[in-house]
Amino acid sequence: MEDTQKFMIRISNLVKNFGSKYALDDVSFSVGKGEIVGFLGPNGAGKSTAMNIITGYLSSTSGEVKVGGIDIFENPDEAKKLIGFLPEQPPLYIDMTVDEYLSFVYELKGCTLNKKKHLEEVRSVTKIEDVRHRLIKNLSKGYRQRVGIAQALIGNPPIIIFDEPTVGLDPKQIIEIRNLIRNLGKTHTVILSTHILSEVQSVCDRVVIINEGKIVADEKIESLSEVVQDRRRYTAKICGPQREVLSAIRSVQGVTRVEVTGERELDSYTYLIEAAQGVDIRKPLFFEMSKQGRPIIGLEAAQMNLEEIFIRIMDRQEEGGNK
Ligand code: ADP
Ligand code: MG
Repeated sequence: MEDTQKFMIRISNLVKNFGSKYALDDVSFSVGKGEIVGFLGPNGAGKSTAMNIITGYLSSTSGEVKVGGIDIFENPDEAKKLIGFLPEQPPLYIDMTVDEYLSFVYELKGCTLNKKKHLEEVRSVTKIEDVRHRLIKNLSKGYRQRVGIAQALIGNPPIIIFDEPTVGLDPKQIIEIRNLIRNLGKTHTVILSTHILSEVQSVCDRVVIINEGKIVADEKIESLSEVVQDRRRYTAKICGPQREVLSAIRSVQGVTRVEVTGERELDSYTYLIEAAQGVDIRKPLFFEMSKQGRPIIGLEAAQMNLEEIFIRIMDRQEEGGNK
């Protein structure tokens, strides 16, 4: 039990293979008490496999998982009591009403808290009171996801694990679910898996990045933001004929590369512009386009995709290693 105070979850050298395919290849990371950790990676990276093992729903090939100091493989029942889990496909019984379902989960978990009071609290935290008598099959995806979260909260587990909780939701529902998770993070230890970088940035304290079954980064959000900020590449929406605008952009001092990325929109195109290291091309670009009568109607730093972030993180680690 030596780690209980420091680490709520400790994963060491976790390996999972399906036949010859390694879904997890020597994965290690820890989650401290009260942390909200984002588990970020593209589709097929191994996120769900890891979540399912940590929560005791899938066996591992080798390695160790400790939850609150308890070994999930040796004492699964005890360890599982500490975790609320929202899987990728929440285990909802769609022919039950919300209340029937929550009551069913309460019994299933062998919960001993005051039932009426506890379920009231869970409904209130997840804001599902107004649908408590409705059949789950008649609920919107956003409400179903809330019911899934309510299910995870039953029994007051100190750890909550969410596997891609906002997939398939509309933008308003996404914001609501993220707010809910952020609030839960104030009183719980949370792991949230996602393939969306901005989700991690808006909700988490720390990020563990996984790619092809391997952990490629484990960083505080502040340092991730430094990595992700790409001050050298901008997307600009500029009015005017493509050929002339392209040559005007090329004539700006410090521009090393430019390409057209978007379709024509009225009289403008979108360009991806790269600048030399340490050069801020925004002002010279503005003056040049202004001089040539080509209005800039949009300009923003280019968002790196996950692939580019991996490359950048690897580069940085190599630089660090050579010092
Ligand atoms: P993620 O959740 O990050 O999208 P998964 O953990 O679902 O990734 O999958 C990781 C890899 O393991 C993928 O290549 C997937 O095809 C494979 N995989 C997952 N589950 C199984 C399974 N039951 N049988 C065979 N391969 C699987
Ligand atoms: Mg998954």
